[in-house]
Formats: sequence, C-alpha cells, structure tokens
Amino acid sequence: MLDVETIKANGLCTGCGLCAGIGAASGPAYAMRDDAEGYRRPVSLRPATRDEQALIDATCPGARIAHAPVQAEAEYHPVWGPLIETRLGWSSDPALRRNASSGGALSAILTHLLASGEADYVVQTAVDQAAPIRNALTISTERDDVFRAAGSRYAPSSPLEDIGARLDAPGRFVFVGKPCDVAGLRQLARHDPRVDAKVPYMVAFMCAGVPSYAGTSALLKAMGVEDESAVTAFRYRGDGWPGFATAVLADGRKFTMDYDTSWGTILNRHLQFRCKICPDGIGEFADIVCADGWHCDEQGNPLFDEQDGRSLLITRTAKGEALVGRAVEAGGLVTEPTQISQLVHMQPFQSRRKGLVLSRLTALALVGRPRPRFAGLALGHNTRLLGIKENLRSFLGTFRRLVRAIGRPLS
Ligand SMILES: Cc1cc2nc3c(=O)[nH]c(=O)nc-3n(C[C@H](O)[C@H](O)[C@H](O)COP(=O)(O)OP(=O)(O)OC[C@H]3O[C@@H](n4cnc5c(N)ncnc54)[C@H](O)[C@@H]3O)c2cc1C
Repeated sequence: MLDVETIKANGLCTGCGLCAGIGAASGPAYAMRDDAEGYRRPVSLRPATRDEQALIDATCPGARIAHAPVQAEAEYHPVWGPLIETRLGWSSDPALRRNASSGGALSAILTHLLASGEADYVVQTAVDQAAPIRNALTISTERDDVFRAAGSRYAPSSPLEDIGARLDAPGRFVFVGKPCDVAGLRQLARHDPRVDAKVPYMVAFMCAGVPSYAGTSALLKAMGVEDESAVTAFRYRGDGWPGFATAVLADGRKFTMDYDTSWGTILNRHLQFRCKICPDGIGEFADIVCADGWHCDEQGNPLFDEQDGRSLLITRTAKGEALVGRAVEAGGLVTEPTQISQLVHMQPFQSRRKGLVLSRLTALALVGRPRPRFAGLALGHNTRLLGIKENLRSFLGTFRRLVRAIGRPLS
C-alpha cells in the first residue's frame, strides 16, 4: 500500500487534492498547500485512519491509474484510449471562443449543461480572484462564471480538494479537470456511490504536464516583469488562439509573450516528476476530453500562428457523445468531422507519451523507488510502437535524473 508521505516523497503526487477531499466528517486528514517549489501538495492535519489510507491507495491517481476491467461502451484505441467519436469544434459564442484556450468547445459544453439544467453547477479551476498569478477551485453556476474560468492555466490546481463536502452537498455538478484529476474521481466512483449519483459528467482536457508556480515566476521574469506583486491581471494564453501570455501591472503596463516561447521554452521546464511518467495525458477516464485542434503544415507539424480557435473533442462514453449531440442541436457548440489518423499531427507529443512510460518505470525500479500501478492502458503496445532507440533514451534520461536524486525527495 502506498501512503501519502511515500507518494509525496517519491515524486508520485499529482497535486489533485483527492486525499484532502475524502476526509471523514470529523475533518480531513490532509490539506492542500503550495510547497517550496510551487507545487500543490497535501500536508498532514492528523493521522489518516486505516480505512482512509486504503481508500487513498485505491483511488489516488498519483499511485494508481487503472481502467475498470470491463470497458463496455467504447472501442479501446491503444494510443488514444476509449473512443466513441472524434471531432473538431468551437463555441458559437464568438466572445467565449476568443477568450477560451482553443475553440472554447469545453466551455460551450459547460454552458449548455448549465442552461439546460442538466447540471446545477460546475467544479472547475480559474484564476484566484485574490491573487492574479494563482489558481483556485471555482464553482460556476452561469455562463459568465464559465467565461471567466475559460482558458488554460499552466500551473498547479487541486480541483478534488473538497470533493467529500461536494458529494455531501445538494445539487449535481459537472467536474472539469486534468486527466489525473478525472482519473482520481473515476477511481473514487468505484468505492463511493455518491460520485455517480452527484456527478453526471466528467470533462477533461489533454495535458502535457503541470508546471510549478516557479515556472510562472520564471515566465513573468522572462516577459520583463520585475515585481510579481505589481501584477493585477495575468493569463497564460487565450484571447485569441493560442493567444499570448499577458501580464498587466498596476501602473497599466502590459507585458506579453507568444505561446510557443512561453510553453515551449519556459513552463515545460518546470513540470513535476509525476507528469514525466504520466500514462494518461489524454483524459481516458473522462466522458469528453478537449484539446487543441492545431492546424498543421505540409509536413504535418502543428502551427502556432494566431487563428480562430478550434478545439479537438473526443467523446469516450455514450452519455458524453449524446451530450455533444445535444449541445450542437441547442446551438452552443459547432463541430466538424475529423479523422483519428489526424490526431498524431495535432497532438504529436500525446501520440508518443504512453510509449515513454515503461522505460521510466524501469528506471524507478532500478533505483529502488516505489512505482505507481498502471493497468489497462496498452502501455506495452505503445512501448513497442516507440521503438528501442527512443525507449533507451527515455530510460537513460530518467535513470540519470533519479541517480542524482538518490537519498533526496523527488518533486
Ligand atoms: C497544465 C495544462 C497542460 C495542457 N496540455 C495540453 C496538451 O498537451 N495538449 C492540448 O491539446 N491541450 C493541453 N492543454 C489544454 C488546452 O490548452 C485547452 O484547455 C484545451 O485545448 C481545451 O480548449 P477549450 O478552448 O475547449 O477549453 P476552454 O473552454 O478554454 O476550457 C478550459 C478549461 O480548463 C480548465 N482549466 C484551465 N487550467 C486548469 C488547470 N490548471 N487545472 C484544472 N483545470 C484547468 C478551466 O477551468 C476550463 O474549464 C493543457 C492545459 C493545461 C492547464
């Protein structure tokens, strides 16, 4: 059994907040805090009971990512996971489409669910109203709330940190999270019937990894912001597609940086270790997953020139597929067909990602670190697809890093 301290010390924590959220009525055993490097991590408030420890071991997405043995509804694609339908799409609301991360398809689905009354509210992540360079768990009950939360915030979030209280409270809610957040909630549903009763839909976005707040600080510095405390508004992208990282200071000065530079050369150097061994960057446990539907050049490489936003939408359950149909019919979501064969061009990193995992787990085993348990994700198939050279490179890179970290905690 993997306990929270072991998970944390060995770089397996995703920061989702599930261990803090599932506390007993007498008060949770953990609370989520920012650690020294700017990742979200649980801190102990009291010793966890044996039952709590067992539930954490069974559901924590840092320690375990496992499909239920029977995946009835959807065909399982070894690279792209359970699939019902793949589309491109965007919000029919031009302001939402522009404000969102890519096409605002994810937010269009949320606004449809609220407007149609299928959900009472949405649990999602948005900018912290009190701190423009921090994220906060947010409850959305209307279109304007969803609008404010739209966009990608490339920093830690813990959308499950109050999940126990949410499941006890009245109302049905849609849950939006990173693939690991959604996997955690789906795994909790196997042990807690309140999840299926209270959460009609789980929506994820594809995720290449979570940068720490140190990444945000490095980004602001590279943008020319000398004093973080003077920032009054900050976005990582959006307001266009992909849009610019934009910081506005109290004196009205505005600093920007393009997406390719901000994500590709700064933020992605601050990813937590767990994201390096992630077997599910593509939201396999969600009803619907959205991503960037990048246009590609003639060689098939994604283009990051400014365009009208376009999301990629994958439905993974029959109810997710029916929901997309209803959102289109109601007029909030516009879609067009695409082929599975196009995904490798729109999402080249995600197409290789599962193939990197087993070599890195081998490195963990060799240095005697505990490994997370992954099941039903076709990792062997993806490892073979990647080939020996890439596997060897992936193994050696991780092994060297782990050797340097022997005797020290991993974050
Ligand atoms: C850390 C991170 C890594 C990503 N990696 C990829 C990737 O590899 N490939 C890819 O195609 N897309 C990635 N995205 C997502 C992508 O940028 C878009 O969110 C996605 O394309 C859907 O666009 P949209 O316009 O439909 O979403 P929107 O309508 O803009 O909705 C985005 C939703 O994401 C939620 N959200 C934003 N930031 C966070 C956060 N930190 N934690 C939890 N929820 C959050 C918001 O609450 C909102 O509901 C990543 C996003 C993040 C935050």
